[in-house]
Amino acid sequence: QQMREAQLALESPLFSDMAGDIDVSFEFFPPKTEKMAETLWQSVETLAPLAPRFVSVTYGAGGSTRERTHQSVVRIQNEAGIPAAAHLTCVNATREEVDAVARHYWEEGIRHIVALRGDPPEGHEHYQPHPGGYENAADLIAGLKRVADFEISVAAYPEVHPDSPDAQSDLDNLKRKFDAGATRAITQFFFEPECFFRFRDRAAAAGIDGEIVPGIMPVLSFSAVQRMSGLCGTGIPHWMEGLFEGLDDRPAARQLVSATIAAELCRRLYAGGVRKFHFYTLNRAELSYAICHMLGKRPAGEAK
Ligand code: FAD
Repeated sequence: QQMREAQLALESPLFSDMAGDIDVSFEFFPPKTEKMAETLWQSVETLAPLAPRFVSVTYGAGGSTRERTHQSVVRIQNEAGIPAAAHLTCVNATREEVDAVARHYWEEGIRHIVALRGDPPEGHEHYQPHPGGYENAADLIAGLKRVADFEISVAAYPEVHPDSPDAQSDLDNLKRKFDAGATRAITQFFFEPECFFRFRDRAAAAGIDGEIVPGIMPVLSFSAVQRMSGLCGTGIPHWMEGLFEGLDDRPAARQLVSATIAAELCRRLYAGGVRKFHFYTLNRAELSYAICHMLGKRPAGEAK
């Protein structure tokens, strides 16, 4: 029955069956300069009317953006009125330091943390926990829960984390993160819907019943996505390379192609029952806005 419904949804005219009955969230990175801060703020203001259930702000490698992440998260929550989540990693910090950052968030009214292990500091190939630091994301979650009753999101990997020996141990690790107190997992980006569906099925079979939200990456720069995909193990389908070929010097055409690819991915996920989407905005609102629009999402109060 579910298969049949999914098939019907895909056969209907493009996007005509998108009811807008979806929840969205948006991810930003902390700005480095005044100009970038302006771009971020414009993006927040553009996306705010879509009533995201939360937005999140990343934490630079090695904790390098501690202050800027903090400022951005607090400003978005206080001035734009959107529940904001702070990403936090275990890298380069003792448990006490991480706990102090978390306590500070709690005091400022931030109730949601995206809890991550983080990547090895520059120059190190393999991850080594800081002496006296949290070992991994599951350990961090347990620590955060001791600080306060945060809502916690974590990372998940439909194509398996590169450090993981196999898919099953990666799932066991995800389960440990839910068991430690996570309420949702947000996936690494991927480009084939089947990749997400297979992962969702494997997670369910492994006894994971928490929310798993697909992370959608609209492609701003194809070469940057190729680089990131190489690092995190995301497969880039052959057809996608073909679609971006020849568009390096055509940013406007590239955006149209990107929006089409990402919206089609979301449409297929929707047909497979997905109703929650997390967008890696890269601090640019238009692509994410256009994709949400095609999915039937309208500013709060406006009918589709
Ligand atoms: P963990 O869940 O701790 O796991 C990492 C790997 O180690 C997995 O393969 C796991 O299977 C294995 N592992 C962990 N513990 C054990 C164990 N006890 N035994 C065996 N294997 C184990 N990075 C940033 O620096 N800043 C950010 O803001 C940021 N935001 C992100 C947001 C999302 C949605 C995603 C998907 C990733 C994000 N990252 C960010 C990247 C992330 O930090 C890296 O992918 C990192 O390498 C792993 O982090 P994790 O929290 O998934 O680690």
